[in-house]
This record gives sequence, C-alpha cells and structure tokens, in this order.
Amino acid sequence: MHRKLVLFDIDGTLVRVGSVNRRVLGDALIEVYGTEGSTGNHDFSGKMDSAIIYEVLEHAGLDRREIAGRFDRARETYIALFRERTTPADITLLGGVRELLDELSGIPGVHLGLLTGNFEESGRHKLKLPGIDHYFPFGAFADDAILRTELPAIAVDRAARLTGTSFSPSETVIIGDTSHDIGCARVLNARSIAVATGNFSMQELAAHNPGALFENFAATGEVITEILNTQSSLPS
Ligand SMILES: [Mg+2]
Repeated sequence: MHRKLVLFDIDGTLVRVGSVNRRVLGDALIEVYGTEGSTGNHDFSGKMDSAIIYEVLEHAGLDRREIAGRFDRARETYIALFRERTTPADITLLGGVRELLDELSGIPGVHLGLLTGNFEESGRHKLKLPGIDHYFPFGAFADDAILRTELPAIAVDRAARLTGTSFSPSETVIIGDTSHDIGCARVLNARSIAVATGNFSMQELAAHNPGALFENFAATGEVITEILNTQSSLPS
C-alpha cells in the first residue's frame, strides 16, 4: 500500500480565478483603510493573502502598525465580499484537475490536503464553486502563519492528527505553480511537483529545480506516477 501525503496549492494549480479577486481585495481595502494601495498592479503569485495586504498598503505609505490595527477587519471584509461576489463563471477549473483528484483520492494510503497562501474561507470558496473542495479534509492557510515557509510543518501536523499517520519527508509531495511552492517543499525536504498553469513559465519553474515539472495536468497518469515516486527532491 502507498503512504503519501499530497499537498496542493490553489491558485494557478487547481483553479484560475478571474479579475474579481483583485477587485474585491481593492474594494475591501478602500472600505477599511480608505485606499487600495497598489492592489491594481501588484504581483500576487505564490504570496500569502496576509502578506499581500501589507505589501499593497505599504506602497500607499501606510506603516505596518497602522495596517495591523485594522487587519482583522480587512480580512473579514475581503472574505465576505469575495464570497458574495464570486460566481462559478469567475473560477476556471484547470485541465486534468478533476480527473487527477478523482484518481488520487481513490488510491488507498494517499491523503490529499491544501497548502496555500489563501485565507481558508476564501480559498475554500474557490474550490467549492467548481465542486472540488470535498477532496481536501484539511490544509494550511494564510490564517495559520506569517510566512508561507511555516505552512508545510503545519499541514504535516494536521495530516498526522487527522489520519493517525506521521508522514516522513519522502512520503510528502507539495504541488504548486510558483517558486514559492517549490521552496515550501525544500523546507521539509519533501518532493515538489511544479505545474506551469499559473504565472510562471516552464523555464522559470525549471530554474528552481522542482522534483518534477508539468506544462499542465492533462496527462493524469504521468502526474500520478510522479506523485507516487518515493524519491525526495534533491537539494539545489
Ligand atoms: Mg499558486
């Protein structure tokens, strides 16, 4: 029997979210801070939602203490607006993802979770709309830590509590579309699988030495073979 913990990123890996996300964040920040800062043109890829809020507001000249003082309200406002305004048409389920999750979830000993910079409630909403949230009984989210590199240990810990299994690094796989996801795998010395369906090209991802690299998840069988591969990623 296999023994594998497979942790998926959300944006650019499982789904692509339309411009509604940026508009909603901007509106939430205007409501709470009176400015959206650099929300309109900021690079969000692979970053924690919490870090994005700080970065875009710091660009507008707010200091960290000012941001922290109203952060919880900003987070709640963003999540509420996101759930209210995002419709199924705003979410594109990426090619091969449903088949991949279907097949993986049917393999005994394989456990799926989330490892994402999203806040849990908005992140799960992105998965509920295309009907894939139920594949992920647990995860680690932007609500759990300041740095994304702190999330892998939290996800592994939750997996252990939920399944009763302590997954070793060689039994853990982290899947994502950015260098940040590959970096998370490196923190654990787990295997990383990168997919170029987000904002990073094949070439950009290859430069970060992922354990495996795919253009997309259309070839489900090949992706599953790489996920079940027992080697951990080599240190770069
Ligand atoms: Mg991503």
